[in-house]
Amino acid sequence: MFLPESFHNLPMMFLFIIINGLLLYFILSGLSYYFFFVKKKDKYHPKYKRKPEKIKSSIKWAVVSLIGNAVVVAPLHLLILRDQTKIYYNVGDYGIAWLIFSIFLYLFVTETSIYWTHRWLHWKKPYKHLHYYHHQFRLPTPWASVAFHPVDSFAQALPHHLCMFLFPVHIYVYLGFLTFVTVWAVMIHDRVSFINWKVINYTDHHTAHHWYNNYNFGQFFTFWDRLGGTYKDPDELPPQVFEN
Ligand SMILES: [Zn+2]
Ligand SMILES: [Zn+2]
Repeated sequence: MFLPESFHNLPMMFLFIIINGLLLYFILSGLSYYFFFVKKKDKYHPKYKRKPEKIKSSIKWAVVSLIGNAVVVAPLHLLILRDQTKIYYNVGDYGIAWLIFSIFLYLFVTETSIYWTHRWLHWKKPYKHLHYYHHQFRLPTPWASVAFHPVDSFAQALPHHLCMFLFPVHIYVYLGFLTFVTVWAVMIHDRVSFINWKVINYTDHHTAHHWYNNYNFGQFFTFWDRLGGTYKDPDELPPQVFEN
């Protein structure tokens, strides 16, 4: 299902995931960078100065991260094709009520695991050896969206993959979230916010995460940060964080 038989092996699956990941990254980050940092620079980042070495480093870590991730994700996706996970294809198998509940459950499981994993990544040793590569960009651009050490990005993506072993997940819920996570990653690194609802861990919250370093660890929401005492109101950010 979904992929022709010729993709049902490790090398082809690996290639398929890398090509998809690279396309998504370069198209979304490229469009976002072009719009907010080139075309509409005067409006959104009037004092921004292009630093080619920063962009180069972002792209290098993003490519390394995408390839590294594909090594681990390819066998997991083969398990889906071989029906060895709890992924299902027909909504009727578990009903519409389960489909809706499973989306909330999926969000809760990933939100909780990612918050605590991200906090762990800010401990001294994991930070120095893994997470620092993402935080070298204190004022990020969309090119930094998936710029991670591959172990770091896999650790943060792992909760999404674990869901398909924990409870029945519809294939489109799983693939939809995997894709949306990349879209979200690009959106929260452009330092431009269009929403201002503080329940959501929107762009300004993540800008504060990069600027202050020890706040706002959540994935899509801020409730774990509020409970864990790590919430920072982005209204406190100085204006130069947005101007540059
Ligand atoms: Zn971090
Ligand atoms: Zn970031």
